[in-house]
Amino acid sequence: MATANPFQSALSQLEKALGLLQLAPHIVAELKKPRHIHEFTIPVLMDDGSRQVFTGYRVQYNDARGPFKGGIRYHPKTNLHEVKALAAWMTWKCAIVDIPFGGGKGGVIVDPKKLSKGELERLSRGWVREMYRNIGPDIDVPAPDVSTNPMIMGWMVDEYSRMVGSWQPATFTGKPVELGGIPVREYSTARGGLIVVEELVKKMKLKPAKTTVAVQGFGNVGYFIAEMLHDAGFKVIALSDSQGGILAKNGKSMDPRNVMKSKKERGMIHGCYCVGSVCDCENYTAITNEKLLQLPVDLLVPAALENAITKENMRKVKAKAILEMANGPLTPEADEYFFKRKIPVIPDFLANAGGVAGSHLEWVQNRQGVLWSDKEVLQKLDNKMREAFASMWNAAEKHTTDLRTGAYVVAVERVAKAIQAKGA
Ligand code: NAD
Repeated sequence: MATANPFQSALSQLEKALGLLQLAPHIVAELKKPRHIHEFTIPVLMDDGSRQVFTGYRVQYNDARGPFKGGIRYHPKTNLHEVKALAAWMTWKCAIVDIPFGGGKGGVIVDPKKLSKGELERLSRGWVREMYRNIGPDIDVPAPDVSTNPMIMGWMVDEYSRMVGSWQPATFTGKPVELGGIPVREYSTARGGLIVVEELVKKMKLKPAKTTVAVQGFGNVGYFIAEMLHDAGFKVIALSDSQGGILAKNGKSMDPRNVMKSKKERGMIHGCYCVGSVCDCENYTAITNEKLLQLPVDLLVPAALENAITKENMRKVKAKAILEMANGPLTPEADEYFFKRKIPVIPDFLANAGGVAGSHLEWVQNRQGVLWSDKEVLQKLDNKMREAFASMWNAAEKHTTDLRTGAYVVAVERVAKAIQAKGA
């Protein structure tokens, strides 16, 4: 997960966009530094009566456009560089989808699998007790990230509300539905990706029914985007998880629901394509993850982990376009390589921004005390994603640059204008 110094990578991407914008030096200085860094200890009473001390973080990168916004990650290898990088990326992500949030990120160095449920709850409540003075609906709005989930957000929002003495659901997003969360949030990241694909195929003059897709990763993001693309008439011909993948021999789209059923029953999606106990090994072949990345498909969707495509394997990729649903699936060398070959790469911070756009809609409903239907939420989400795609595409054309830099230019300019407008 954590690379040598991901914050340096975040800064070098930012530099590329800054080279295309004429910004005053004091604005550039603000864009390159977090506003606040919180690093703290969280003592936790363990089930055996001992006490363990964990390290927690919250990096509040930029709030020029609105409260800091970003998830809290529980991982044994997280560190300050990683949290700073993720907080910077959240700033650009919120700006590209034009929601009134800044960027932030939090973390705890912990392997949550080693904690009991009670220990996990005490740790999560401890994080809030250390941070409650610095977060809130108008200050900083955390959410789930790697190894945190709605259950943890439920504990956190309860602890925060107890500390301040009133119910404050808009302090956290990604909450359980019973506490003001929204059902759409579970699949809003994938939904945003679907909208981006619809816009991309229009630009590429491809018809969904003739567009073949391979999806790497079968978790929250990979599963839902595969299901949505299949339902929208795209040909999802290959899927994989960490154990391996399957490829449709006949070129027909596979329904990810059936594959999920098979995975739940057999614990894997590779080997054969099974529905219940009926396995179809004739139409589907087992493939490795490496092979999935090399398929001659129209659209490749890395939706698993970072660094899936590097300088080692980029030349073997035969896809006509790439949608980065995972964070950081391409290394900078691979990015450069595809740009030179005119293969569009939709950057992660736009492709997976449907998640935070959904979170924004949860926050607005909590603040106003209203409840929108799923249809209304999706309509608002879709509009945001289409507008973001258009602004990225136009900026890339205007500056004759890659889509990532195009998206950066739009996002960074929006943040810079807010700093300027505040008279900094
Ligand atoms: P997840 O843990 O639910 O799923 C990850 C999936 O990737 C699993 O199916 C796992 O088996 C698979 N996988 C792991 N290693 C693999 C490999 N080498 N090859 C193929 N598959 C592999 O995680 P998720 O929530 O789906 O997140 C996936 C990516 O999307 C991450 O980079 C995450 O940061 C990013 N993301 C997620 C959200 C969200 O709302 N969940 C939002 C923005 C970005």
